[in-house]
Amino acid sequence: MSRIIHLNMPPRPYGMHAKLHWEQSTCKVKPAGAMYTNWLEKRLYQGVFYKINLFNKGISEEMLATYYGRDLLTQNQIAEIQNEKLREFLKYCNDNSPYYHKQIQEHSVNLRAEDMFAELRKIPSISKMEITRNLESIFSREYVGRKGLIAKFTGGSTGTPLEIWGNHDDYRENNVIIARQRRWVNWVGGMKTMTLFGGSVDLPSSLRRITKRVLINDTILNIMDRSNTDFSSIVAVIRKKTPHALIAYFSILKELSQVCECEKRPLSGINVAIACAEPIEERARRHAEQWLNAPIYFQYGTRETGTFAQECRAQNGYHYAQDIIFCEVLDDDDNPCEFGNLVITWFANKVVPLVRYKIGDSASIVTEACACGLPYHRIDRIEGRMASMIITPDNRRITSLIFPHLLKDYDWIIEYQAEQTAKDHIVIRIRTNRKSSISDALEDIKKKFNELLGRDICLEFKINEDFLKVPTGKHLYFVSHLNSIPGCTE
Ligand SMILES: [Zn+2]
Repeated sequence: MSRIIHLNMPPRPYGMHAKLHWEQSTCKVKPAGAMYTNWLEKRLYQGVFYKINLFNKGISEEMLATYYGRDLLTQNQIAEIQNEKLREFLKYCNDNSPYYHKQIQEHSVNLRAEDMFAELRKIPSISKMEITRNLESIFSREYVGRKGLIAKFTGGSTGTPLEIWGNHDDYRENNVIIARQRRWVNWVGGMKTMTLFGGSVDLPSSLRRITKRVLINDTILNIMDRSNTDFSSIVAVIRKKTPHALIAYFSILKELSQVCECEKRPLSGINVAIACAEPIEERARRHAEQWLNAPIYFQYGTRETGTFAQECRAQNGYHYAQDIIFCEVLDDDDNPCEFGNLVITWFANKVVPLVRYKIGDSASIVTEACACGLPYHRIDRIEGRMASMIITPDNRRITSLIFPHLLKDYDWIIEYQAEQTAKDHIVIRIRTNRKSSISDALEDIKKKFNELLGRDICLEFKINEDFLKVPTGKHLYFVSHLNSIPGCTE
């Protein structure tokens, strides 16, 4: 990732120690009245209500301690846990899922082998379409006709919709994983939080929202209730309620930061912001962090699996929960590769087991140790697969990653968004503070772009004009009218 230098505010340094320093240097002195609120937050919400909430979900203190404790293990110890969980899971599939029983037998998978990862590689990956086609035989016999199963739908933003089933067991495990991940970035259950979501899928019922407000100090705002552009009133609510944490789609955090910039007044009192469901655009993150006055950490997951990966304080890739999932990166022929299809085997859901399931995103996996000291491998460079592709007039598909790649060197660009309106036409909207002429630089961008994509695509620049709004928070820097709107999750 490149380091972006901003003109009007000091850049935030990377790395653990640098980050701590940054946090200290931007730390606010709390007003006296806040002391009571802090006492209430710590004793009542963090100490009592949050625990009741977890208990209510069937999560015991022991379970939490086990999962939290894994943060302190070595990479090898985590890999051993993953290996054994994988063995257990494949045994379960062999015994209960007719589809996987056949696969395991056909490909001579040895369930007693030492290295289960090598055994897993014998089983071919499976796409959303193949799951839909074989759902009945993949479905665990243990759960046929059982009550209390939970449907998990994906909207198909990666191209193909999918419907699978799970139950409370996988939800419970997922909740523990989310709690663990958020601890990495100093979010504590019971912390005064404001969650901003829109769309019926993401919103709990109004009763659950009230319960959350009372039990875990989390106010949920439905941004769909307001007009999509009225982010200034949301900023006013945030200033009034003074939450210590914000959780939202990144595009919403970005809108909020733009309001703050217009008002020339950063937010104050927010310790952490957690961004959901979108690919990272580093430049926009740095800009939003400055105006929200808080570090922003991205989390990653899908509708069907829940959130299973998140950035740590080093903000350098998403550590994934190796104790519930195994991630691989494969090319179209199922060979391991550096950047390619993200393929997961998820141990937590036994109702419809997913073995080497192609999520629909592209990514890479980083196995080197992270500066933060967590033992979990990292997923990096996540790209929504289908719709994040530029389609050229001669029907080549080229990743939209070329935009961050091309534009990273121009520090006068605060933010940009590319829109492919036709195969031979791309609009690039740029927000900038630069008063002096930028025409030479634009010519330069055009030249580099044409070298990569060919001369028959026309590039049109729009400077300081409104960006396209994507209210469901699905996309950041590239919108294509040639295929569905992309997202890193569904
Ligand atoms: Zn880390």
